Amino acid sequence: MSEEIEHLNEPLTEAFRDRIGTVDEKGNRKWVYAYKPKGKFYSIRTFLSIFYFVIFFGLPFIEIGGRPLFLFNVPEARFILFGKVFWPQDFFIFGLTMVTFIFFIILFTAAFGRLFCGWACPQTNFMEMMFRKIEFWILGDAGAQKQLAKAPWNGNKIFKYSVKHIVFYALSFVIANFFLAYIIGMKNLEKIITEPFTEHIGGLSAIMVFSGVFYAVYAFFREQACIVVCPYGRLQSVLLDRNSMIVAYDYKRGEPRGHLKKNQEDGDHTGDCIDCNQCVRVCPTGIDIRNGVQMECVGCTACIDACDNIMDKIGKPKGLIRYASENSIESGESLKYTVRMKMYTLLLFVVVSILSFLLLTRKDVDVTIMRTPGIMYQEMGTDSIANLYNLKAINKTLQDVPLTLKLENGIGRIQTVGFSYINVVKEGQGSGSFFVILPKTAIKERSTHIVLGLYQGDKKIASAKTNFLGPIKVSD
Ligand code: SF4
Ligand code: SF4
Repeated sequence: MSEEIEHLNEPLTEAFRDRIGTVDEKGNRKWVYAYKPKGKFYSIRTFLSIFYFVIFFGLPFIEIGGRPLFLFNVPEARFILFGKVFWPQDFFIFGLTMVTFIFFIILFTAAFGRLFCGWACPQTNFMEMMFRKIEFWILGDAGAQKQLAKAPWNGNKIFKYSVKHIVFYALSFVIANFFLAYIIGMKNLEKIITEPFTEHIGGLSAIMVFSGVFYAVYAFFREQACIVVCPYGRLQSVLLDRNSMIVAYDYKRGEPRGHLKKNQEDGDHTGDCIDCNQCVRVCPTGIDIRNGVQMECVGCTACIDACDNIMDKIGKPKGLIRYASENSIESGESLKYTVRMKMYTLLLFVVVSILSFLLLTRKDVDVTIMRTPGIMYQEMGTDSIANLYNLKAINKTLQDVPLTLKLENGIGRIQTVGFSYINVVKEGQGSGSFFVILPKTAIKERSTHIVLGLYQGDKKIASAKTNFLGPIKVSD
């Protein structure tokens, strides 16, 4: 049996890093015609994507106690997480939640690379598991798509492209509606859909803008969203280290690469890569994973499936491309829990603890009490002193809260101005003014600490500490 291995491996250079994989030497966009992957990972991702789509399209319909489960009303600075309303006054909790999320992302990325991008990112799921599959269905696999692109404009080409773009826009329109539902809530979205459009010009404009953006992303911009726009993708270079888990080509096993020839015998060459290019053909970002870690790689695992199929066919063990760290490929080390990861974990634990405490101790009614500025104190009759206070309350519940006040320490009384209680409307704010009146005999110093209890009926819902100002010496 003759030795007919064609070794094509040229010395690996870093030239491929001079530009992104979807741009040619002249700076023009290279359209990626990715072949449809087949294999274990693609099947699992397909299954999971159905789960994600059910979640994405289902969550806006779920309510807890009359409120959406999640709402991200950025224009009104009103957020609902797990049915709990967060107001601008709760912004530190929301901010801390974001910080926790970022810590989680950092830790997760340091350990598991772009696992999120490949498996859970909405952009990857919508692009690869919805729009690209529809494209395969309408235009055929990548080979057919290339041929159609080169073909002259005839009836068949016009028909197929028209169907594709109509379906893409229709889907983008549906996604835009649900996206808006996460901002304004499903009930408000239903009003936009069912009521005269003249009453919802703003909402309809938002839907049209979102539809246009989604259509542009999935029909034209595609993988560029991950490569050029996504900040998480840009952060990879600082978050990953040589122990991070990535989709990696085992160059120790694969090189020197070379085409498999007829009559090849074992031992004819040492590398398992037969340079079939299948891993490149399925890559949705148009890169060759054999060049090493690249920022364009979204960890979609398509190249793992493609290469495993080839390894099956040529009778070699799977895993020439697999999840591994750079160190594990180089030295056979397993994934390590590094000092950096330990530090991130500690920080994450601290932030999660603070966040949990803030969430558990968060009140349904927030009250701020301040002495009325510019007024020191007033004499009430011959034996008492009064201070005037302003109260502002935020009600985060779905019921109106009639607030009454009690002095919790010392002797004295409270007299509200104009009404006997302060009504705080549901999911709204209330305010009022009241006097605290203390007998002169209770005032020993210029500033006396007092504690005010706020009650809804008999139920105490909050308390507030403040100061009561009196004359310097009154009790003699
Ligand atoms: S699919 Fe596997 S064998 Fe084929 S070129 Fe890629 S790494 Fe080499
Ligand atoms: S290199 Fe592999 S894992 Fe990375 S984007 Fe391309 S196909 Fe997906």
